[in-house]
Parts: sequence; C-alpha cells; structure tokens
Amino acid sequence: EKTPEVGGQEERILVSVRLRPLNGKEVARNDVSDWETINDNTLIYRNSLNERSMYPNAYTFDRVFGCDSPTKKVYDEAAKEVALSVVSGINASIFAYGQTSSGKTYTMSGITEFTVEDIYDYVQRHDERTFTLKFSAMEIYNEAVRDLLSSDHTPLRLLDDPERGTVVDKLTEETLRDLNHLKELLSVCEAQRQIGETSLNEMSSRSHQILRLTIESSAHEFMGKDNSSTLAASVDFVDLAGSERASQAHSAGTRLKEGCHINRSLLTLGTVVRKLSKGRNGHVPYRDSKLTRILQCSLGGNARTAIICTISPARSHVEQSRNTLSFASCAK
Ligand code: ADP
Ligand code: MG
Repeated sequence: EKTPEVGGQEERILVSVRLRPLNGKEVARNDVSDWETINDNTLIYRNSLNERSMYPNAYTFDRVFGCDSPTKKVYDEAAKEVALSVVSGINASIFAYGQTSSGKTYTMSGITEFTVEDIYDYVQRHDERTFTLKFSAMEIYNEAVRDLLSSDHTPLRLLDDPERGTVVDKLTEETLRDLNHLKELLSVCEAQRQIGETSLNEMSSRSHQILRLTIESSAHEFMGKDNSSTLAASVDFVDLAGSERASQAHSAGTRLKEGCHINRSLLTLGTVVRKLSKGRNGHVPYRDSKLTRILQCSLGGNARTAIICTISPARSHVEQSRNTLSFASCAK
C-alpha cells in the first residue's frame, strides 16, 4: 500500500488545468469548444485560423484534464498527494482558480470530500496514533473575513500570534466526527453564504471561500510520549473569486465598471504565487491582503501547494481562458 509522499521539494507548486464540458446555455447559442487535451500534460487551442494574437496554441502543465475527466481523477492526479501531506505534519493548500462558471466550486467540493475520505481511511489504518480532525470555514468578501460556521456576520480580525503566525480571531472550529458531519457542516457554510445577499452568483464571483481542515495526532502514552511525537498541520481548500475580477482590475486604468471592485486578495495571491514559483528568495508580500495573510502558513515554508485552474471550453470565453492559462503558466 502507498503512503503519501512527504516533503517533496522538487515541485513546490503543482499546477493543473481542468476543462469543463460545454454547458446547456453554450450549446443552445451554438457556441463551440476550441480546446482539447492531447495527452496528460498538453492543452491545445484548435481555432488557430481565427487566431490573430500572439498567444501560444499549446500549453504544458503538470497535468491537464479534458472535459470527460471525472473529479476523482482530478483529485487523484492533481491534489491527493499534496492534500495528504497533512497526515505527516506538513501544511498544504489546494486552490481552484478560474473565471466564474468555469467549474471551481464543482471541482473543489469534490476534492474536499475525497480528501476527508482518504484521511479517515489513513486514520483507520494507523491506530498507533490518536488523530483529531478539526474543521473551520471562512469567506473573504471585499477584504472582510466572515465565519461561515456562525450566524454572526461581524467581520473577524486577524491577529499575529508569535507561534502560530496569522490567526483568525474567534473563528469557529468544529471537531469532526465523521464524513457525514463534514457534509452537514458544508451545508451550514452554503446557507451562511446566502444570507443577506441578493445574488449568490454575484457574491460567489467576488468572494473567496477557505475551508480549513486541521489534523492533530499524537503517539499513544504507552509508546513513550514526548513533544516530538505530536504532529499538527492544516490543509486549506480555497475556492477563489472569479478570475475575471483580476483581469478587470488590470484594465482598471482604462475603464473601471461600476460595482467592479479591484480584488486586492486575488491580485496579491497572483504576486505571491509568482514569487514562490521562482524560489523563495526575496520578499513575498503575504501581508498585502487578507487572503494571503490567512494562507501564509499553507503557502510558505515547507508547505505543499496545488493549483487547479478551471477553464470553459467555449469560443466566447477564449479571452478569459487565455488569462487563466497565463496565470497558470506563471505559477509553475
Ligand atoms: P464556478 O465555481 O467556477 O463559478 P461552478 O463550479 O459553479 O463554477 O460550475 C458552473 C456550472 O458548471 C455548475 O452547474 C457545475 O455543476 C457545472 N460544471 C462545472 N464543471 C463541470 C464538469 N467538469 N463537469 C460537469 N459539470 C460541470
Ligand atoms: Mg463557485
């Protein structure tokens, strides 16, 4: 049996791209799919006749997934190893990046459940240690952090703890009983997101959701317990705001549409990821946004990170797909 690989420094950020199928609306308006995966690593843009730009027509990533790949395959090949490093005490983060309706939430919700299933499976096979799983959930909207497990919507403060780094003050943390308990908590989060908002879609396109799973484990008393026998690590599942928010911000100088706020967290994440992908020398601006402050421990240090970029195959979305692929290329 395979145990998760630990601490691989070779590829600190694992970058994958997932293509979703054309949806009903796209089919109905005779939109067509212009993207195709030709192997496990290469994505091709097939509409080169119409292509009048300087963009490449082939993109290479750690993994690419075509529109017929199920989420289980995406999990197994693009997230599992990174996510399961938490059982060995290594922090991890899994991101979904892409334009609104490209499949971020669809992908992340599956990956979160598969991870928890595998962690329980691991726990059952390792009864020489005692494991505790804890779950918390938050949302960042206009640089305000909210607890998704609480009906109190007061923005939470970020505190600097000398030992633990950035801590979200008063964030609810539930001790998980089992996989069903996780599913219950996920529906609480979903309900909390909807309260007080006119349009859930508008909200989810602008907000970041972070689900945090913390695993603590210790060796049993009789095996000779000391401090070094206690491990604790977190894995963060991050469903990012729609990436069109970042590109709109880039063109802010020319035209900033009403109600389209620059998403500071998304822009700063881009900068942080680019710096990290070039090695960890020099200043990484974690402190410039709420998102990157909260995620610092699961991005920096020896943490493992996987980014899954989701794109729509539709011709009408080609510009946003190109933007997403540029981000993905910078991250690898
Ligand atoms: P986002 O979170 O990026 O805005 P969603 O995850 O909500 O996008 O996906 C938009 C719609 O497309 C949803 O109805 C979702 O079920 C569907 N969808 C997304 N990805 C896939 C996929 N790979 N296969 C089938 N349906 C998908
Ligand atoms: Mg979503």
